[in-house]
Amino acid sequence: MKLPSFEYACPTTISEAVALLTAHDGEAKPLAGGQSLVPMMAFRVASPSLVVDLRKLSELRKIRIADGGVTLGAMVRWRDILDDSRLRSAHPLLVAAVEHVAHYQIRNRGTVGGSVAHADPAAELPGIVVTCEATIAAVGKGGTRLIEADDLFVGPLMTALKPDEIITEIRFPAWPARRRFGFSEFARRRGDFALAAAALFYDEDNAGRAHNAHVGVIGVGDRPLRLTAVEDSINGSRVNETLIAKAEAAASAAVEPPDDIHASGAYRKALVGVMVERALKNAMT
Ligand SMILES: Cc1cc2nc3c(=O)[nH]c(=O)nc-3n(C[C@H](O)[C@H](O)[C@H](O)COP(=O)(O)OP(=O)(O)OC[C@H]3O[C@@H](n4cnc5c(N)ncnc54)[C@H](O)[C@@H]3O)c2cc1C
Repeated sequence: MKLPSFEYACPTTISEAVALLTAHDGEAKPLAGGQSLVPMMAFRVASPSLVVDLRKLSELRKIRIADGGVTLGAMVRWRDILDDSRLRSAHPLLVAAVEHVAHYQIRNRGTVGGSVAHADPAAELPGIVVTCEATIAAVGKGGTRLIEADDLFVGPLMTALKPDEIITEIRFPAWPARRRFGFSEFARRRGDFALAAAALFYDEDNAGRAHNAHVGVIGVGDRPLRLTAVEDSINGSRVNETLIAKAEAAASAAVEPPDDIHASGAYRKALVGVMVERALKNAMT
């Protein structure tokens, strides 16, 4: 399908990009990898009068790893994450999730900022951002704003970003070397969006009891969800078969996914329990 007509700009600085978005008062949209925006324009779901291409903003392409955690520039692509061997120890849960994102061609262009701004409830990265309590830095006409992941996603394809704001960075807290983690996803075909997935991690005390459990799920609500009931079932206990059965039941009980063209709500409710079970088994090994 042909795209609707639009103006195009390719600024070389963030402030120029923000000025363009501000001047168009909600009628302009940033373009990152184009893997979601361009199809949405083709289907007339989005019709910006101006497309502001971020590709020349090279400062948004950096991956920084420091004692305080991992920071991904908004224009970092899926491929950059998979190619950066440092991330396999600096943030293995992030890498495990990105391995499930789309196909080779899309991973070459799609970006982390675009994914988070697009806010698909079945997308992997928004789920990881919520599970790991990442912070999103956005720059707009009012300056830089730091948004907690939990406050960013407000509904399907909806975020708390203002029309003049550009995501510049996603900041993940530090990842301890001995942390246990798991990621499990079910999709009809490899690379499709998840029907359901679970991302989780916990730390262990000297007696092998879990604490600081974080459990996030995608594909079962209007946004990525943290399942505190499942976290409560894990914290303070050793992770074994009995605990995993309880966590699986708690995960299914905690969600009420609607029916849609891909699966019934009842199916996803059962599936998310299985995803938590598998992710916990991953974490134990
Ligand atoms: C066939 C197919 C399969 C896919 N499968 C998956 C999958 O399994 N999992 C998955 O997670 N994704 C999947 N995707 C989506 C893909 O990962 C996209 O790359 C991603 O959702 C959007 O990133 P983008 O860089 O392409 O953003 P764009 O398409 O350029 O932009 C998406 C939206 O974000 C806004 N935006 C972009 N950058 C910024 C920024 N820095 N600040 C503020 N707003 C911004 C745009 O204005 C637009 O509204 C798939 C896409 C396709 C076409």
